[in-house]
Amino acid sequence: MARVIFVNGAYRSYAQAVLHVEDRSVQFADAVYEVCEIRDRLIVDERLHMERLQRSLRELRFDPDAAPQPRALGVILRETVRRNAVRDGLVYIQITRGAARRDFPFPPADTPCGVICFARSTSRARAEAKALKGLKVVTVPDIRWRRPDIKSTSLLPNALAKQTARDAGADDAWFVDDTGHVTEGASNNAWIVTASGALVTRPADFGILRGVTRQGVLKLAALNGYNVEERAFTVAEAKAAKEAFLTSASALVLPVVAIDGAVVGDGSPGRFTLDLRRMFHHQAETSTLNTLLA
Ligand code: PLP
Repeated sequence: MARVIFVNGAYRSYAQAVLHVEDRSVQFADAVYEVCEIRDRLIVDERLHMERLQRSLRELRFDPDAAPQPRALGVILRETVRRNAVRDGLVYIQITRGAARRDFPFPPADTPCGVICFARSTSRARAEAKALKGLKVVTVPDIRWRRPDIKSTSLLPNALAKQTARDAGADDAWFVDDTGHVTEGASNNAWIVTASGALVTRPADFGILRGVTRQGVLKLAALNGYNVEERAFTVAEAKAAKEAFLTSASALVLPVVAIDGAVVGDGSPGRFTLDLRRMFHHQAETSTLNTLLA
């Protein structure tokens, strides 16, 4: 029997099921899910799973009007299990924040949530055999998710940070570590210029993404005799800095004029920043590292 999956309102074969490539689950891991055991055609602990799902939705501030109602979810679970003729196995349900043009903050309120549900059979005999044998485990460092040096699509914290910035009437967010030091922006690297004119940015270790733009700016700074300090800086130091700016391939070099409402410098884009931006443009137009569009 061909397996069937529920995606956004339709039960389809796996070959025909489609999910929009700009669904936020794909772009930002902006989704929540549950898995329930099916035993003798019963959905085990369904109520507890659905309560946790609702909690996850609330915690991630999913719009209650855009998310499917619990009753509808119950129908989808049952119908998916039925269509796949699962007697013993599992049913998986995922709710995404829907499909919208890729942008970190939440999409417009009327964006419908995405829903994915599948069910599959498992062998009770095999599960029992496994239980009789027991499992071996290895221990690993709990890095969930402390590897921002990898440009992965696990961007849910970044999307939440950008939404927090938007809610606060700001344009972007800078992450701060447990010691009060700025790590990086939600989609960019963070920089300050000290009173003595030194450019300061955090070293590109495991705590930040090694920005390509950051590397370009470091090279420009060296070529032009700027004083550079690759070290962490605190929020207080950033607020008191002469200038602050951020770098990324989409923002390039952009001045930051306020941090948590405190004006940086005189509150307008600084000279160092604008010079670097100009140099970056020039370099972008002339670099031998560029590749030509056909
Ligand atoms: N840091 C984060 C978290 C980012 O998402 C990005 C870019 O997307 C950057 C830094 C800057 O990297 P790049 O200059 O390569 O665009």
